[in-house]
Amino acid sequence: MIDVHAHLDDARFRSDLQELLEQLRAAGIRRVLNSGSSHASCRKTLKLAAENDFIYAAVGIYPHDTGELEQNGMEELEKMARCPKTAAIGEIGLDYYYDTVARPIQQKWFHAQLELAERLRLPVVVHSRDAMRDTLAILREHPRNTGIFHCYSGSVESLREVLDLGWSISIGGVVTFKNARVLREVAAAVPADRLMLETDSPYLAPTPYRGKRNSPLYLPEIAAEIAALRGITPEEVERITDENALRMFKMA
Ligand SMILES: [Zn+2]
Repeated sequence: MIDVHAHLDDARFRSDLQELLEQLRAAGIRRVLNSGSSHASCRKTLKLAAENDFIYAAVGIYPHDTGELEQNGMEELEKMARCPKTAAIGEIGLDYYYDTVARPIQQKWFHAQLELAERLRLPVVVHSRDAMRDTLAILREHPRNTGIFHCYSGSVESLREVLDLGWSISIGGVVTFKNARVLREVAAAVPADRLMLETDSPYLAPTPYRGKRNSPLYLPEIAAEIAALRGITPEEVERITDENALRMFKMA
């Protein structure tokens, strides 16, 4: 199985990371696309990727960290984006849930990082929270970019627009929450070739681990839930999502 979105560089993994990495190998987790969110976390992500063959890096500055780009520009990010194990630009996007960074600033750096991804021909991991309309409007201005909406939280109607733009979605532990009615509809409706699995570890652990530290070891819980919603087997979910992830991200 492949986890297209995790934060194994998070402090919550510091005490037992080596042990967890061994468990991931033993469990047959084939790839993890670890996402940076700030310059510091991108550097940690690249180190993890350099030390572990099955870990790949997404490098990008998260909407609420775009103040770093206001200060220092894109130079360091571009250097990291050119590293051999960088498989994507991300996570980048818009987050209007918290207003810690003004919306025009978030938008400016979303544009700039999309341009970088296009120039380097890298797919993009998008974070969009309470900002679907503006996110889609910006992506429409960048028709040559492609990628995934990680932890997709939009409606079935927005999903149509995402698909029309040629983008995919990844779904994580929230799909196992019984009150996630819309996401469960989305998980059943998304075409098989546009779906990937993620954990967003250490956040958003699936049922029955809800509230605990999440890890890619819980991918099977997510796959099983999506399989039930689509009326197919977990093995089939694993097969199609692995295929999609390897086609989208160069994780040889
Ligand atoms: Zn994330």
